[in-house]
Amino acid sequence: MEASVAKNQDGYRVKLFGGKQTAEEVYAQAINKPCNGCGGVGITQIATLLSVKDLYLKRPDIIGAMMAASDSGQSLPIIKTIYGPMVCVGEVTACKRCTPEAERAASAGERKWSAQGYTVQVEIRRGPPPDRPIFQVPKGDAE
Ligand SMILES: [Zn+2]
Repeated sequence: MEASVAKNQDGYRVKLFGGKQTAEEVYAQAINKPCNGCGGVGITQIATLLSVKDLYLKRPDIIGAMMAASDSGQSLPIIKTIYGPMVCVGEVTACKRCTPEAERAASAGERKWSAQGYTVQVEIRRGPPPDRPIFQVPKGDAE
């Protein structure tokens, strides 16, 4: 995907909408949610999904609470995955700076649910890659 991104001669990505916004800014605007850590501009979304079957067998009270909280009062927001039907039990938005910490927390949550025998899927949507090129200076040349 990176090869298809239009860049100017300095390696910076060409801005969208006639130079008004970067891809990252457009993505953050589409998310339109503040960071759960610091309230900054959210760019990463992390969703924790649990198997409906596991929840039904082990924690039917959670299923009941989710159904009661739904719009109709009797439906579940089921997401089809390769592991079968799942429901989202947690969604977090993080800014660029808080993303590593949010990913660590999601990983710890995934281990906790797995240890209890649940089928867990953690979805991390990071958005577009950085707008600026990353330069590396060989050791010894840095002055
Ligand atoms: Zn943040």
